[in-house]
Amino acid sequence: MDFQARRDRLRKTLKKAGVDALLVTDFTNVTYLTGFTGDDSYLLVRRDGETVLSDPRYTTQLGEECPGVDLNIRPPGVAMLQAVVRVVRAAKIGRLGIEGDSMTVGLLNQIAEKLPKVELVPTSDMVEGLRLIKDKDEVERLRRAVWQAEKAFAVLRSTLRPEKTEKEVADELEYQFRLFGAKDASFPSIVAVGPRAALPHATPGQNRIGEDDFVLIDWGANDGLYCSDLTRMLVTGKISPKFERIYKTVLEAQTRAIAAVRPGVLAHDVDNVARSYIAKAGFGKRFRHGLGHGLGLLVHESPRLAVKNQTILKPGMVVTVEPGIYLPGWGGVRIEDDVLVTRTGHEVLTSVPKRLEDTVVG
Ligand code: ZN
Ligand code: ZN
Repeated sequence: MDFQARRDRLRKTLKKAGVDALLVTDFTNVTYLTGFTGDDSYLLVRRDGETVLSDPRYTTQLGEECPGVDLNIRPPGVAMLQAVVRVVRAAKIGRLGIEGDSMTVGLLNQIAEKLPKVELVPTSDMVEGLRLIKDKDEVERLRRAVWQAEKAFAVLRSTLRPEKTEKEVADELEYQFRLFGAKDASFPSIVAVGPRAALPHATPGQNRIGEDDFVLIDWGANDGLYCSDLTRMLVTGKISPKFERIYKTVLEAQTRAIAAVRPGVLAHDVDNVARSYIAKAGFGKRFRHGLGHGLGLLVHESPRLAVKNQTILKPGMVVTVEPGIYLPGWGGVRIEDDVLVTRTGHEVLTSVPKRLEDTVVG
């Protein structure tokens, strides 16, 4: 991945933001700009270069993950604050951009006290704005994260037994995608049987898979940097008329929303395609979350496909499309796929079959 190019793109925005440098304190942003996957490290991006501020635990890892980047490794006993002060002073920075969404008030006050002559300028979304548009390498990594999640699901599906608990299924799924090379789960997997599926963020418990007719599984793999995120329904019992009606409604809403994804469209308009379809089917009050979210280094990032979100979709954005209908006491249905905005429209990165008949196992 071309981290240098990303830093150069950020550098070009410094002037416009009216700052001499940006102190990147959000660890995910540090990763995006350097490839370094550890934490407790900051990055100072100046107009003429950059410095990673870290500590000796990470010296080796930094050398491996971002060779060639200037390092400031503070010795034991020297606090991060002191390191920041030294580096900013040495670079003769007059206006220092800080990440308003990440820096704590405590650190801000301390820096202001130690560097009274430096003007601290809160900024927002300077790096996140770049992260919105995925480059080729990032899309490749996202494809890999999708592949790992899908391979794992295929194994799980073929070995699913009714006596397994939600927790066991979640653990097996996560073990499987690790075997396919994932580093971690994108987020704690959701495996929710029957009525539990009415909770959009159910935690896997001791309910057995065969206890009800269906189960909702929401999972994703982190390939080491990038995250995938899918949801599928599996039917372990009978497809009831109610399940069929709700499933078909959600699937049609999702299909229409995905078809609406293309450059130039507003995020809330895509959300509305699914939302209005579900409302017309009589379940408007039962779809109470946004249609989707951006995917990347984090499993939830910009842009959000949600009511009132004015983001204009652009090629390179990657979003989930995940409508759902939740009926307390009965359960819920959600279907989620990962979609790349392309120059001409979109490409669905995920491919686990999802016709009604594909949900049936056993
Ligand atoms: Zn999900
Ligand atoms: Zn999601």
